[in-house]
Amino acid sequence: MNDLRELYQETILDHYRQPRNAGSMVDANRMAEGFNPLCGDKVKLYLKVEDGVISDARFEGSGCAIATASASLMTESIIGKRQEEALQLLENLHAMVTGGSTMGSMGKLEVLAGVHEFPQRVKCATLAWHTLKAALENTVEPVTTE
Ligand code: ZN
Repeated sequence: MNDLRELYQETILDHYRQPRNAGSMVDANRMAEGFNPLCGDKVKLYLKVEDGVISDARFEGSGCAIATASASLMTESIIGKRQEEALQLLENLHAMVTGGSTMGSMGKLEVLAGVHEFPQRVKCATLAWHTLKAALENTVEPVTTE
């Protein structure tokens, strides 16, 4: 794990220390909770979906730097997107953190590409995204990465 410094790049640390869109949302119409037992990361995601568009997103949780930064970056990336665009982004993100390749421009999310070299951290990076899928599908059961 001597490349950890590279993994925790500046952007990741910045989003970990100052998560964007952190907090709860009183008028959310989609909500889901996720848990990554491998690391202990927890996330609760609130969405407001209007006419198929994610107009707002907030998250609460406690997790490692990767899990928190991924959730923060995710909320920034999905606000203003249609549900199907957000799910496509999820597919691309998953391919990136498992295979290391980016499909088209992933914007800021590309800082998470380095995670693919650390298979034990992939679930940290994808937790918020699994939770997003559950929220969009209105799954009421808590999701787990296991
Ligand atoms: Zn983690």
